[in-house]
Parts: sequence; C-alpha cells; structure tokens
Amino acid sequence: MIIVLKPDATEKQIKHIEERIKKLGLKPWASKGIERTIIGIIGEEDVLRIQPLEAFPGVEKVLTILKPYKLASRDFKKEDTIIDVKGVKIGGPKIVVIAGPCAVENEKTLLSIAKEVKSAGATMLRGGAFKPRTSPYSFQGLGEEGLKILARVGREVNMPVVTEVMDTRDIELVEKYADMIQIGARNMQNFNLLKEVGKSKKPVVLKRGMSATIKELLMSAEYILSNGNFQVALCERGIRTFEEATRNTMDISAIPIIKQLSHLPVMADPSHATGKWDLVGSMTKASIVAGCDALLIEVHSNPEEALSDGSQSLKPDNFAILMQELKTLTTAIGRKI
Ligand code: PEP
Ligand code: MN
Repeated sequence: MIIVLKPDATEKQIKHIEERIKKLGLKPWASKGIERTIIGIIGEEDVLRIQPLEAFPGVEKVLTILKPYKLASRDFKKEDTIIDVKGVKIGGPKIVVIAGPCAVENEKTLLSIAKEVKSAGATMLRGGAFKPRTSPYSFQGLGEEGLKILARVGREVNMPVVTEVMDTRDIELVEKYADMIQIGARNMQNFNLLKEVGKSKKPVVLKRGMSATIKELLMSAEYILSNGNFQVALCERGIRTFEEATRNTMDISAIPIIKQLSHLPVMADPSHATGKWDLVGSMTKASIVAGCDALLIEVHSNPEEALSDGSQSLKPDNFAILMQELKTLTTAIGRKI
C-alpha cells in the first residue's frame, strides 16, 4: 500500500502518519519526490483495512500496489533513482562505463588495464577477488589480496571500484575495499546475502540470475531495499535459453521493461551475456539504445592468458575504438558517455 501525500503536506503531518503506521507494527518508507512525498507501507497490510488513512491530515489518496515488489516499483517512486558511487552518478543522463578484467590477477596487469580503460573513457573499474566458478578446480580469485590490489589500483587511477561478494561472512571485508558491491547472477536469490547487503551503506549492483524472470530480479532488489539500502542498480547479463550460439541470451527487452517497472538504474553486461568479445560492441550499442544507464564490460590486456573469461574480454585497443563509436551513438540519442 502507498500513501500519496498532498503537495503541501507538512513535516509534522508526515511524522504523525509514520508514527501511526509504526504503532500498527508496519514499516513506513517515505520517498520525497520533487512535487510530493509518498509513503510506502511494508508488512502485513490487513491491519490497515480498519484504519481510515484517507482521513489523516496531509493525505491525498491511498493506493494498493498490486505488484509483489513495492519499494522497487515505479508506483512507489516516479522519478529515476540516481545512485552515487564515490561521486560517479548512475541513473542520470551520463551512461557510466565500468570496465576491467573478470578477475584481479596481479597488480601490474590490473594497473595497466585500469590506465587504458580510463584513458578510453571508462569511469569505474571492475575486478573480481571472489570468483563464482563452475569448476572448483578453476581459479577462484585472490581473495583479500585481490581486494587490496583492486583498492590500491582504483586509488592510483582515481576510479571507484566494484567487486563481487559471494558470502555473508565476507561482506565486511569487501565493504572495506570496494566502492560498490556486486551480487552475481548465481547469488541473485541468496536471500541472506541480499538482506545483509541491504544493511550496507555501499551501493549494490544486483545481477539478474541466469534463469530468473524480471519479476524475480525485482523481488530480489526488494530484499535489499526493504533492509534500508536504496542504492541498487539492476544488471541484465543474459539468461539461459536453448540457444547455443552465445554463452547466454541477452534479453535486451529487459532493459526498457525494468525501466518501466522500476525507478532503479539499469546496467547491461554484454560480456557475460554473449561470452564472445566480438559480439560485445554490438550488444553494448543495443543496450544503450534500449535505455541502459551503465555498462559492465570485461577488458584484459592479454585475453589469451586471462585466468577467467578471456574469450569475452576486449583488448584495450578494441575497447578504446568502441568507446569512440559510443560517443557518436550517445550524442544521437541525447545522452552522454
Ligand atoms: C562477473 O561479473 O565476473 C560475473 C561472474 O558475472 P555473473 O554473475 O553475471 O556471471
Ligand atoms: Mn567474468
């Protein structure tokens, strides 16, 4: 249920409504828009049936949100959410490009990749230290050492860094080094992990599970939001279908659909979606035209020797060519990069 307040509702009236909701054992979440405030109510709403909420001073109308996700929905917040990762704004007119290797391998390689992607126009650096690998015999990431390298390199090139957390026990550690926390596709429905990052102050990128519907992705976002963290970006990274020509099938339509259903910024990851470096450019462009707010692109200076995801990693020179092409494209559609 959401309570839409009158444009001239006072702070005192808002407080009063919030207090009454709390007394009923429910959680109020106020969203202050440009014109008016909306209060979302979370919890067993049945008790509200007997409360004449419309009669409260300052209330314009009371609406029932039929969708199972509430805080993540556009009904709750009309304006786009813009999240702030150490000064980099995701969700505004500028499309944010996050680039870097799949995994942090060593400081020298990461620093050279970071310098190249930065000079090509990327604004954030990615790199995994805890890697969710299909095989237990594959490289699992450098753990804390990888986080330290990532943070040092990020500082040196002055780029905020994003890295994945796979386990609730590592959240505190990852928070220490990362500017943005990634929840990977395989953990999209790890509800304990979602609840814990919901208590974090760090922005989160939540990747779509490989067999998850858009509704399930939004329900997972709801776990994070309802625990207090509203700084969430949703990432389309391809889903599993019968098609074998690509690693996953990139669901481009998910981008405008999520933008319709939710106020949260939308990211696209053409690297994991295709699994092939020579498809990354076209899927990046398609994602931009479809309305994404940020891109997650894997880049490696020597993809042949990469410890993970080499086949989908762009070489820095190809990444720079793509960034040039994107300038023309974004200008044509009235956005910046
Ligand atoms: C990654 O970003 O390196 C990754 C493992 O992504 P996903 O969870 O989308 O597979
Ligand atoms: Mn990867």
